[in-house]
Amino acid sequence: MSGLHAPAGPPQPGVAAPAPEPLVVGDHRTVRLISLGGARTDVLLTRIGGDIGPAVAAVEKFWGTDWDHEIVVVATANQTQFVADAGLDPDRQWADIAAVAVADHVDLDHHQASGQRIVFAPGAWAMGDSALRIVLTHELFHFAARTGTALDAPRWLVEGVADFVARPPTPLPPDAAASVALPTDADLDVAGPDRSRGYDRAWWFARFAADTYGVETLHSLYVHACGPGHGDLAMAVQQSLGIDLAGLRARWARWLTR
Ligand SMILES: [Zn+2]
Repeated sequence: MSGLHAPAGPPQPGVAAPAPEPLVVGDHRTVRLISLGGARTDVLLTRIGGDIGPAVAAVEKFWGTDWDHEIVVVATANQTQFVADAGLDPDRQWADIAAVAVADHVDLDHHQASGQRIVFAPGAWAMGDSALRIVLTHELFHFAARTGTALDAPRWLVEGVADFVARPPTPLPPDAAASVALPTDADLDVAGPDRSRGYDRAWWFARFAADTYGVETLHSLYVHACGPGHGDLAMAVQQSLGIDLAGLRARWARWLTR
């Protein structure tokens, strides 16, 4: 494992190698960019180094500054490295995943996570600039929110909020109101194009909540619905939005068809 900014080769005797400049962004956060080898990973990490400042700013604006002050980003050179470093199940298909945010250990009771890192897949170098920025910011939100997210949190809301933080608010497609049901975790698990619609609907829901009740309230909904010790969705909606699920469904349907 070699650091992108690590000096190449052993230090020459008698020559003081200049210390690599640590990348510092946002609320005094240091960024470690780690290449697992290959020319493309260095190029990718250079682009990520350019995007990490705005990504941190977007996450801090939504989530605040109380999260890990060392950000670790790993670029992998092949799929085997990716699956291993990200700790993924090698028997499943990960070919369409650009990056993941993972941790070695999470202690929700003590608000601590160790070994947190964002791991990019080998194909990530081919992403366009805006797609790369979105993926980085999305994964950075998961990284920041790790110790504030229960293992059994509703995934659709976790993903919807991550996309709310990461994506520019592009107009909804004309058929956005084809379904006005609330998003569910099952929407994220279907195969094919319906899956990406499931993620989009989760993202639209987060936009709806922020539009209608304010960004602070969306943050509060995340804490009540996804945080450690969270209640069910109905309770979290009542606590943060002050309405019941029937009222929420009606407003969501109105927002989608507005
Ligand atoms: Zn995600």
